[in-house]
Amino acid sequence: MRRFGVSLPDDLARAVDSIAEELGVTRSAVVAQAVASFVQEYRGHLKSGHICLGAVLSLTEGMEAVGEIMEKYRDLIANYSHIHLGEKCISVFVVQGDGQKIGEFLMGLSEKAAKTFFTPIE
Ligand SMILES: [Zn+2]
Repeated sequence: MRRFGVSLPDDLARAVDSIAEELGVTRSAVVAQAVASFVQEYRGHLKSGHICLGAVLSLTEGMEAVGEIMEKYRDLIANYSHIHLGEKCISVFVVQGDGQKIGEFLMGLSEKAAKTFFTPIE
């Protein structure tokens, strides 16, 4: 077993603590399960040589955060929709292309966004 520190957005950290309490397990157990799910997804889809098709959903405080990363990965984005709900901005991307590039797009987006979700379709 290895130990290392990670930084999480406050609401995500609270959610991890809440799930750990509800399930009666440690915070580490919840994080390990979440990482295992990501690793499985990564190995299946977010790798070089796999042409992936999927949808990305992100929640941001504004459009500025998304604009730069969208420009950088525009070749991957087949469709894009943006909705303002009060102070929140929700972006929906349909992405298609090399899985590794989609992974880079996701990681770049999640550094700027409060929440980012990816659902692979193929
Ligand atoms: Zn895929």
